[in-house]
Amino acid sequence: LISVREVYKAYRRGSQTIPVLDGISLDIAAGEFLALMGPSGSGKSTLLNLIAGIDSIDGGSLKVDGVEIGELSERQLADWRAEHVGFIFQFYNLMPVLTAYENVELPLMLTSLSRAARRAHVETALEMVGLSDRMDHYPSELSGGQQQRVAIARALITDPTVIVADEPTGDLDRESATEILHLLQGLNRDTGKTIVMVTHDQRAAEHAQAIMHLEKGVLSAREEVRSAPG
Ligand code: ATP
Ligand code: MG
Repeated sequence: LISVREVYKAYRRGSQTIPVLDGISLDIAAGEFLALMGPSGSGKSTLLNLIAGIDSIDGGSLKVDGVEIGELSERQLADWRAEHVGFIFQFYNLMPVLTAYENVELPLMLTSLSRAARRAHVETALEMVGLSDRMDHYPSELSGGQQQRVAIARALITDPTVIVADEPTGDLDRESATEILHLLQGLNRDTGKTIVMVTHDQRAAEHAQAIMHLEKGVLSAREEVRSAPG
């Protein structure tokens, strides 16, 4: 599904060049749940952003579903992202003035779906994350774990090809983190969603099917997780 070949990425600030990815290659199959680990500053978020089409590569090839992401125009890229990628962030990134329902509905406001059709989708998504009884709550009225579940429902609402999650449990206590990881595992297992998750936490990473380590611009070999904790 995702094919990354000899990808280079550097950031330029004035006369300074900060090399981040030094010829990275990896393949992610459809339906796979992959965890990406590595020290702070190693380029994990950078790689995730490239896969999600938020940022552009400086060299190499990056294809998702056969589409060379770097060859799309800005407009095409925005459309592609809206259709194919669901995002989950460390700090949830929910809109504080919108309810859980409205936050999840937001990505559908850009589509031609009717209000009734949107409602059906939103209710299904909130049910999947176990928040049917919290639809009218504002983010400030929800726990961190619940806010992250709203964010997961929002990420799923457009039925994306791939879900990218950057430290999705980084701001949660252990118990809520485990709930979120189980939710992601369940989604991966039951709906076959491809998930790429960045994490600092070895225990979190072991909920994925495979782990790769990024260090000094280079990616380690895949490490298969024998049996994900239940
Ligand atoms: P963390 O675990 O702390 O989130 P990370 O592995 O996600 O780290 P990145 O955010 O990908 O690391 O950053 C990799 C390197 O690129 C760092 O040295 C960072 O300072 C640099 N960097 C990231 N974004 C930019 C930017 N927009 N402009 C300049 N440098 C950047
Ligand atoms: Mg990061």
